[in-house]
Amino acid sequence: MEVTVIEAKKKIKEQLKVAAYCRVSSESEEQESSIENQREYYEELIQSNPNYEYAGIYFDQGISGFKEKRPGFQQMMKDARAGKINLIITKSITRFARNTDTILKATRELKDLGIGVFFELQNINTLTQDGELLMTVYAAFAQGESDTYRELARMSRRRQFEEGRPMYRLHKALGYRKGEKEGTFEIVPEEAAMIKQIYKWIRDEYTVTTILKMAKEAGFHNRDGKDLRFEQIYKIVQSEIYKGDYIMQKHFIDEDRRHRINRGELPCWYIEDDHPAIVTRKLWEEANAVIEKRAKEKTEHLDLLPMTVENYPYKNKLFCGYCGQKLYAVKTKSGAQYSFYCHKRNKGVGVCCPGITVPQKVVESWGVITENIYITMDPDKPIPKQYSITKESTWKKRHKKKEYAAEMKPYNKENYHYYKRIFCEKCGWPLYRQRRDDGRVQFICGGRSIYRSAFCSGIIVPEKVMDRLPDKDGYFILREEKKNGEKHYSYSCTKEKPERKKK
Ligand SMILES: [Zn+2]
Ligand SMILES: [Zn+2]
Repeated sequence: MEVTVIEAKKKIKEQLKVAAYCRVSSESEEQESSIENQREYYEELIQSNPNYEYAGIYFDQGISGFKEKRPGFQQMMKDARAGKINLIITKSITRFARNTDTILKATRELKDLGIGVFFELQNINTLTQDGELLMTVYAAFAQGESDTYRELARMSRRRQFEEGRPMYRLHKALGYRKGEKEGTFEIVPEEAAMIKQIYKWIRDEYTVTTILKMAKEAGFHNRDGKDLRFEQIYKIVQSEIYKGDYIMQKHFIDEDRRHRINRGELPCWYIEDDHPAIVTRKLWEEANAVIEKRAKEKTEHLDLLPMTVENYPYKNKLFCGYCGQKLYAVKTKSGAQYSFYCHKRNKGVGVCCPGITVPQKVVESWGVITENIYITMDPDKPIPKQYSITKESTWKKRHKKKEYAAEMKPYNKENYHYYKRIFCEKCGWPLYRQRRDDGRVQFICGGRSIYRSAFCSGIIVPEKVMDRLPDKDGYFILREEKKNGEKHYSYSCTKEKPERKKK
């Protein structure tokens, strides 16, 4: 096990003129904390340190910290200004002053003079980077008596960390449980398999949405049986515990009893090979590199020029691979780049086109585009493989419209007795009429054609099946089932119009 201490405070400079400040708030203080005992303690502390030069003891007795007229304190400040002191040691913030403003005013003045104040109990040196912040925190709650207990509890916890007795709760994390021996942890095989798979999916550049879908299909879930959550995926991948490391005091409880992330307020300890790893360091690094790349791309802005053929030679060469429409450019909401859209989706006329959006960066990653290309997209594929391109000649061959035997008859009540009264059983959306490339007419779920398969898995009913619907009032709800590989259709008829599933 290798432990790296991430230092929270610098070492105290050598050969310092060190003074101590003590205060006893009332005459009835216990013997052990009396001024005499404190004086003895500090004299010994300072004189026994070869790096310290004894600069005297300042004290006030029987004076409340709230009152500003403290002769010992005033004398100390005077001597400090005169350059007689480099460092002041004092028991606790509460002993130095009871009022946050007074503490900050004095310590700031001293800091400007290059003089540090070291609070023994809180282990804070005001000259260090976090010193003032920490002191503000402590001083703020030092004003309330009851907080002292909490402070002490926290300090004893911190001391346990320092002595290498972590109190961490690794077994609360997915993938681990308590081992047989006290204080040890072991891997939960099923959960570990899930964690590993999530790392691989991120490494392979699947989107979080797709990962959640695949996780559900794979039967992955939290301990309470609930599905994994969106924000959980990155958290899992970014957690150092899965490569066997542990950061002690990564979090702490602040004075409002809130759980907070330690952003340098307190020291923390990075421990390598602390417990059995679930993923290799290589996989961990690779997956996290993908997350970093995504974060970087999010903030990246392109220099946008007016959308002309001169500036963007590929402008007129991009087509929708579903409906054949030319894509048109719109700046993204953030203004970071252009996006190319299919007209049909936006106008809402061609229900057969699911629509497509192609970011400028994706288009430009394809290199120089010299001929017309037809683009389709599968959001469930890894990000670099989501878009596929077809050459115009190939696309046109594939989508060549057959010469239809007859024109389509107009879609109205006269020709179709069930006109506007047919619905998808799965989502409640109306069915739309559609002509296939081979000329046959069918009815498809409108919910699916607008919101895609994630919204409704859809239904396709041939015209000849629809024509078998009885000529009666009400609303027809169409149902499609597969039996032995064959499609079977059924319907129910209701008086009430079915309710549409909300997006
Ligand atoms: Zn289209
Ligand atoms: Zn539907």
